Amino acid sequence: MSDFMLKAILFDLDNTLIDYIYFKKETAKAAAKAMIAQGLPASEKEIYDKIFQVYEEKGIEYQKTMYEVVKQYNLEINLAEKIQQAGILAYLKRKFEVLKTYPDVLPTLEKLKEKGLKLALVSDAPRNKAWQRLIMAGLENAFDLVITHNDTEQFKPHPSPFQLALKTLDISPEEALFVGDNPGRDIRGAKKLGIKTCLAEYGRVFPEEDKADYVIRDFREMLRILDIQKENEFHLPKFKRVPERAERGTHPKEKIPRKSKK
Ligand SMILES: [Mg+2]
Repeated sequence: MSDFMLKAILFDLDNTLIDYIYFKKETAKAAAKAMIAQGLPASEKEIYDKIFQVYEEKGIEYQKTMYEVVKQYNLEINLAEKIQQAGILAYLKRKFEVLKTYPDVLPTLEKLKEKGLKLALVSDAPRNKAWQRLIMAGLENAFDLVITHNDTEQFKPHPSPFQLALKTLDISPEEALFVGDNPGRDIRGAKKLGIKTCLAEYGRVFPEEDKADYVIRDFREMLRILDIQKENEFHLPKFKRVPERAERGTHPKEKIPRKSKK
């Protein structure tokens, strides 16, 4: 396995740079509370679960979530509208409060950029939502290139978004590293094209496996996986696979099943 020079890092957005699941949970709680306050006859837990049920069925970017929840209660039309709008407004209000990056994402990206690496965002989010989140998180000027679902109309792991990033940056797959939380979409898609991969394990909510070349448990570890060999020249260490989780046994708050030595 030969060493190569790294020229660009491609990043997923949700649950890699921003804590998207926390944001979805917090906004669902706020919406449930507000809708109950306006007369929705249910418990907070029930509404919260129904919101996530809609996300599961229609996708987490679905735009009529509160409507789908409220309509299940067959309320008088104006009462239903009042409750729905209260839910939407509470969701939005909370969104502005909680949409943030993981710790030190911006300074870490800036350090990588200072060293001459190109930085690209490759997100499955719609273009408008991706930019909203980038601005709210303070990352709107952090990238040389932003690729969203609208650019290729394909979701990762389809090769199109990855290929568009490589082509636009004018680099080969061997010169790129992809960082993402989703093994099935980010890691699998990048690997298929020969791009080195790094799993953002802290944001991971998907149980499936697709082995990444590197694993980080905190975004700040990005600086550590790069091996600076010469001034302004980054190399990835020679095929140094980060040990599997069971071998590492350092994952916080998680019971590690002991593998039999035999
Ligand atoms: Mg993600």
